[in-house]
Amino acid sequence: MDSKRPVTFSIAVPVYNEVESLPELYPRVRAVMENLGEHWELILVDDGSTDGSTEVIRSLSAEDNRVRAVIFARNFGHQIAITAGLDYSRGEVVIIMDADLQDPPEVITDLVTKWREGYEVVYAVREERVGESWFKKITAAFFYRLINQITDVSIPLDTGDFRLLDRKVVDTLNTMRERHRFPRGMAAWVGFRQIGVPYKRAARYAGETKYPFRKMLRLALNAITGFSYFPLQLATYFGFVCAGISALAIPVVIVLRLAGNQAFFGQATTLIAVLFLGGVQLISLGILGEYVGRLYDEVKGRPLYIVRETHEAIESD
Ligand code: UDP
Ligand code: MG
Repeated sequence: MDSKRPVTFSIAVPVYNEVESLPELYPRVRAVMENLGEHWELILVDDGSTDGSTEVIRSLSAEDNRVRAVIFARNFGHQIAITAGLDYSRGEVVIIMDADLQDPPEVITDLVTKWREGYEVVYAVREERVGESWFKKITAAFFYRLINQITDVSIPLDTGDFRLLDRKVVDTLNTMRERHRFPRGMAAWVGFRQIGVPYKRAARYAGETKYPFRKMLRLALNAITGFSYFPLQLATYFGFVCAGISALAIPVVIVLRLAGNQAFFGQATTLIAVLFLGGVQLISLGILGEYVGRLYDEVKGRPLYIVRETHEAIESD
C-alpha cells in the first residue's frame, strides 16, 4: 500500500478476549475491503484481553501494515474501546464493528453504498438475530422502547454499534468526552443525515458473550442517565401524588372520626405508610446518587482510557 495516500475507510473493532474470532475476522474484512478497492485500515483496539488476543493482534499488524493495533493497559469496556477506535481512525469514513463476527463484514458494502448516496450515519438494523437468548432479545426490545420514551433522542430500534460514520460525525463525536457513554445514543444525538440498512445478525463465531447481565444493566443506566432527567423528576411527580392523596385523606379521616367510625385506627396503617414513604425516599436518594456519582466521575476528568502500546506502520509522509 502506498501510505502517502489518505486512508478512505477505517474499520474500528473493539476486542476483548476474541482469540478464536480474530484469525477469521481479518481475512473476511480484507476480502470485503479489497473488493471495495479503496484504501483502508483495520484498527484493533485490545480492551485488556487476557486470552492471547493481544499476541494475535500484534502479529496481524506486523504482517499487514493496514492493521493498526491499540492496546489498552486494562479492560476499560466496550464503549470506551469504540471511542479509542474513533480517536485513532484516520479514514474519511469509520465503520464500527464487533470482533465476534456477529456483524458480518460483508454488510460494510451496503453501508458504503448508502454513504456514497450522501448519508453521514448509516446504521445496521438487526432484522433477525441468530443464536441469542430470548432473555437478551426481550430485554433489548424493552430497553430501546424505554429509552425512546423517556429521552429526547430517538434511537433507531434494533440497532447496535455496527454502523458507518462520516468523518464529520466522527470529529463531532470525538469532542464529546463524557465518561459514561452510550455511543448509539450519542450518534443519534449529533444529528446529520442518518439511515438504516437491514442485516441478519449472525451468531457469535466463537467464545462467549462478553456482556453479562451486569454490564448490560450498566450500559442501560448510562443510556438513561446520559440522555434523560426523567428518573430525577420521578421523585417530584411522586411527591405531588402523595401530597395530593394526603390532602384528600385529611378531611375524610376527620369526618369519619367525628362520626365515630373505627377505620384508620391501629399501628398497621401507620407502619405501612411510614415504610412505603421510607422506601420511596430511599429509591429517590439512590437515583440522585446515580447522577451524583456520574457527576463526580466527570469532574475528576481522568483520561477515558490508557494505552499501553500501539503498533502501526511508520508513516512515510
Ligand atoms: N468487548 C470489549 N470490551 C468488553 C466487552 C466486550 O471490547 O469489556 C468487545 C467484544 O470483544 C466484541 C464486542 O465488544 O467485539 C461486543 O461484545 P459481545 O459480542 O460480547 O457482546 P454481545 O454481542 O453479546 O452483545
Ligand atoms: Mg457479540
